[in-house]
Amino acid sequence: MRRPMIAANWKMNKTMAEARSFIDAFRGLVRDVTDVDIVLAPPSTLLCKLRKETDSSNIMLASQNMFYEDKGAFTGEISADMVKDFAEYVIIGHSERRQYFGESDDVINKKVNKALEKGLKVIFCMGETDEEREEGREKEVIAKQIKNGLDGVGSLDNVVVAYEPIWAIGTGKTATPEIAQEVHLFIRNEIRKIFGNETAEKIRILYGGSVKPGNAAELMEQPDIDGGLVGGASLDAEGFAQIVKFKG
Ligand code: PEP
Repeated sequence: MRRPMIAANWKMNKTMAEARSFIDAFRGLVRDVTDVDIVLAPPSTLLCKLRKETDSSNIMLASQNMFYEDKGAFTGEISADMVKDFAEYVIIGHSERRQYFGESDDVINKKVNKALEKGLKVIFCMGETDEEREEGREKEVIAKQIKNGLDGVGSLDNVVVAYEPIWAIGTGKTATPEIAQEVHLFIRNEIRKIFGNETAEKIRILYGGSVKPGNAAELMEQPDIDGGLVGGASLDAEGFAQIVKFKG
């Protein structure tokens, strides 16, 4: 049985004061949750503060990004070691990084390898655009993202995959549970081809794209959906707690 994970991607949202009021409410709301991994990915300005606020709690932290070099003249970037000071996880390959910041499969692959080398756990994102799906190319696109993004990775023990169809991110358009399940199974089978059966059965594959309190349970019920990566609906403590408690 794979342990579900529900992860919040706050993107470029929340000041210190806003994060404080979120965490004050959220910690209590999820205090009794023992059967789901809970992860918050705030902007990096908030990692230090949230580390203090979540120590000895059931909440883990993720960075939304990192650079693949160890240190040096890379203005604006943060390294894996810096992330490790505060967070267990790092999100790599998010479609917004690919789309707005020009991150190629090659850059993403370097980041994945560096994060794992440094002992971070990776939430590795992939997904197709509307156009790619309309052209019937979603599986081809995803297979390429898996092959290129995970090139040179020896073990997926510290990797969680997130399938996030770009047409469903922040649009209010959720993939139906059936569509999401079909792609999740495809991803698991691609991983099986490269990393073997045991890894494929063990790895968690999260769904992302307009997950809300009202649709979380039916998505999570699918056999190959092992949790969610949640953007917009993770900004509200009550709503996000409801998603974390999707089992009821
Ligand atoms: C995301 O960007 O990771 C995401 C899933 O966003 P949203 O839930 O807002 O669609």
